[in-house]
Order: sequence, then structure tokens, then C-alpha cells
Amino acid sequence: MAIADLGLLLLQLALYFMVMATLFGLRHRYGIGIFFCALGAMHFLETYLAATFYVAVPPGIVVSPGSTILFSGKIMLLLLVYIREDAVAVRQPIYGLFMGNILTIGLVALLRANVIVPTAGPAPDFLFMDQMGTLMIWGTLLLLADGILIILVYEQLGRWYRGSMLARLAASGVIVLTFDQLMFWPVLHLVAEVPVDTFLGGWVAKATTACICAVLVTAYLRYFEPRVFDGFAHPRLLDVFDALTYRQRYEELLQRTGRDGLTGVSDRGQMESEAENMIMGSIKRGMPVSVLLIDIDDFKRVNDEFGHLVGDAVLRSLAQMLTHSLRDSDRIYRFGGDEFVVVSNNLAADGARSLADRLHWQTATLRNPDLREPLTISIGLATSPQDGTNFISLLSAADKRLYSAKTTGRNRVVGTDGEPGDDAAGLVRQT
Ligand code: GH3
Ligand code: MG
Repeated sequence: MAIADLGLLLLQLALYFMVMATLFGLRHRYGIGIFFCALGAMHFLETYLAATFYVAVPPGIVVSPGSTILFSGKIMLLLLVYIREDAVAVRQPIYGLFMGNILTIGLVALLRANVIVPTAGPAPDFLFMDQMGTLMIWGTLLLLADGILIILVYEQLGRWYRGSMLARLAASGVIVLTFDQLMFWPVLHLVAEVPVDTFLGGWVAKATTACICAVLVTAYLRYFEPRVFDGFAHPRLLDVFDALTYRQRYEELLQRTGRDGLTGVSDRGQMESEAENMIMGSIKRGMPVSVLLIDIDDFKRVNDEFGHLVGDAVLRSLAQMLTHSLRDSDRIYRFGGDEFVVVSNNLAADGARSLADRLHWQTATLRNPDLREPLTISIGLATSPQDGTNFISLLSAADKRLYSAKTTGRNRVVGTDGEPGDDAAGLVRQT
């Protein structure tokens, strides 16, 4: 065993991750196909190394760079694709690798039927190809299972555990790679006759790689592609599974992606992925940007008195009114329940106040035949740079002011000056 081999393994992992993460990071500029093709290109080498190439590293474990770096790294990269893109993106390499491997096996089977013309070079090693074929069939099926499993495990862990992203990534990797080792190694042992001590060594190496990759992925997420709400949204596990296994139609999924099903405005996930960039862009150009947090007053009572269907209709009509009242460059999101967030570029505090007053007033004039009284809303406002210079700080300033609007009587706008505005044209009741 040699320290130098351990160093080489670590160097390979660093090189592998750096190149792949760079290709992934450049996807918005050059397309994600480059990253996916690079991932696929290494699959044959990975299987070949798993069958033939082992090194001994301290403290005396025997590992294959194929399984350790290329395979474990690939599984962790698939998780990265899921985190920064979505299930629709990650299912493409998962199935692409599966289909590519099946095709490779089919082509090799046909090659065997050829009468080969001898050349000066080495003769093809069909025994080896058969061994590789068996390994590839099993490895391919496992890769499909592993790719889906790591995403489901990651989602489930996020539900149970709200702690650090690093621990969640590492645990997801270790769990799935343990499953993989238990399933892949026995076949490797039977077909390629790898020695028994490679089982434990392989497992230790895969688990260690998962942990190192978790650190690298966390660093990537934090420093190269940060987002405000990393890992807080929890889609239904069944929806993720359906998306990963193509049980949902692609168009239907695309339509649903980013849209709130009830009101049709962008959903919270969409807000998490675009609001920060939008605000950063404005701030860089030296333009003010305002965030409005809008919440219906006493909405529970609407549900209780008139039923949820009426409540749903109210949410839809409010969302429609808000959408029509905004400029094309403004963005509106359903933040949750009866709360909406508006992000408005190039809008200073006084403009935001006018906009909020107008929305407030228009809500009071919304005609809703099912309600006895006009609907009222409260709005908290925040404007950059005075209230914050990123989305989370602006949203939290707006949230504080919304709270102040609610506690000082509802049905009002609270803006940068902290002073509640007037009731909507005297049309609405005080609560
Ligand atoms: P407040 O003035 O303090 O905002 O009081 P509120 O009654 O509006 O309280 P809150 O905003 O906390 O409650 C929101 C309610 O919205 C809770 C939930 O019953 C209801 N709700 C959430 N989502 C939906 C939905 O999709 N449809 C319907 N009909 N109701 C919803
Ligand atoms: Mg409310």
C-alpha cells in the first residue's frame, strides 16, 4: 500500500469534480448537454476499472478508482443536478446512461457474430467483453436504481432533518453507495473474481468519497451557485418519484413546474430560484428594487364561513387582479396559503408605496358575489438599498412590516417609513 496511491486517488477526485462542476456551472451559457455527455463518456472506463484496476491505500484497503471516483462521484453529481435543476433534468442522464449501456451490450452481442479479419494489433478479447457485458447489465440496472434512490433519500432526509446541507448530502451518498456496494460487489466477485477484501475496502472508499463529494458539492452550492432557500421546499415524494420514472407526462410537468396550481402565478420554488438573481441584477445596475408581501386579512374566516371552494375562488380572483395590475417586468409569486410576494425592479420606496396603495384599493373594489363584505389585504413593503441588499433581507423587512400592519389593525400598507397607510378609500371594515 502506498501513500502516493492515496494522493493520486484524491488528485483524481479533485480533477474529476473540478472539471465536472465547471461544466455544470457553465450550463446556462453552453447548455447542460456538455455536462451530460462528459458524464456518459466515462461510464465504460468506470466499469473496466471496477473489473480490473485496484490499488492498495492506507490503512490497508484495496480500492478501484472506477468505483470510488467515477461511480461515486457520478452519483453525487446526479444529486447536484437535482438540487440545482429538478427531477425533469436529472432523469435525463439517469435514463440516458441506462439506454446507452443497454445499447452497448446489444452492439457487443452483434459484434460477436462477425468473422474478424486478423490485424497486426491485439485480437479482441471476447471473454473479457462477456465479463464486462454481465457487469454492465447489472451495473446499469443498479445505476438506474441508485440515481432514483439518492434523490428520494435526499428528499426524505430533508423532511426528517432540517440541519446542515453537508450532513444531508453526505448521509444520502453514504446510504445509497452502501446499498450499491451490497448489490454490485457480489456480482463483481462472481464474474470478475475480485478478492473478498475488496468488499470492505470498496465500501469504505465509496463512503469516504461520498463524504468528500458532499463537502465539494456544499462548497459549490454555497460559493459558486448560492440560492436563498436551499433545501427548504419539500415536494411530495411520490411526485418526485413519478417525475423521475416518467410516470408524469413531460409537457404536463413542464406546465406545472414553477406554477402554483390554484392561482396560476409562479410558485414559491420559482421565487427561490429567480428572485435573488433579479434583485442582484438590479442592485448591480444601481437601480432600486422593491418587495411587497401581501396577505389577505382574516382569510380563515372566509374559509370557515363560506367554505374552501369560495376561499379558492377568492385566491384566484385576487391573484388575477394582482397580475393584471403589475408591469410586465414585475414578478408575482404565491408564497404560501393567502400570501403573495411581488418583486418590482426599478421601483423606489415612494413608487412602491403608490403601487401598494393601488393594489390595496383595487382589492377592496374586487367584486366577489359570495362574500358579504369586501376583501381586504395587508401589505408589508421593503426597498433596496435602505432595507437590505439581497432578497432574504428585503423579504424579512417586508415581513416585519406586514406583521406590524396586522397588529395595528390590518387592512393597511406599512412601508419604509414604518407608518401604516390609510384604509382603502374608506370602503372596508376595520377588524
Ligand atoms: P390574518 O389577517 O392574520 O392574515 O388572518 P388569516 O385568517 O388570513 O390567517 P392566515 O393568513 O394565517 O391564514 C391563512 C389561511 O389560508 C389558513 C388556511 O386555512 C388558508 N388557506 C391556505 N391555503 C389555502 C388554499 O389553497 N385554499 C383555501 N381556500 N384556503 C387556504
Ligand atoms: Mg391572512
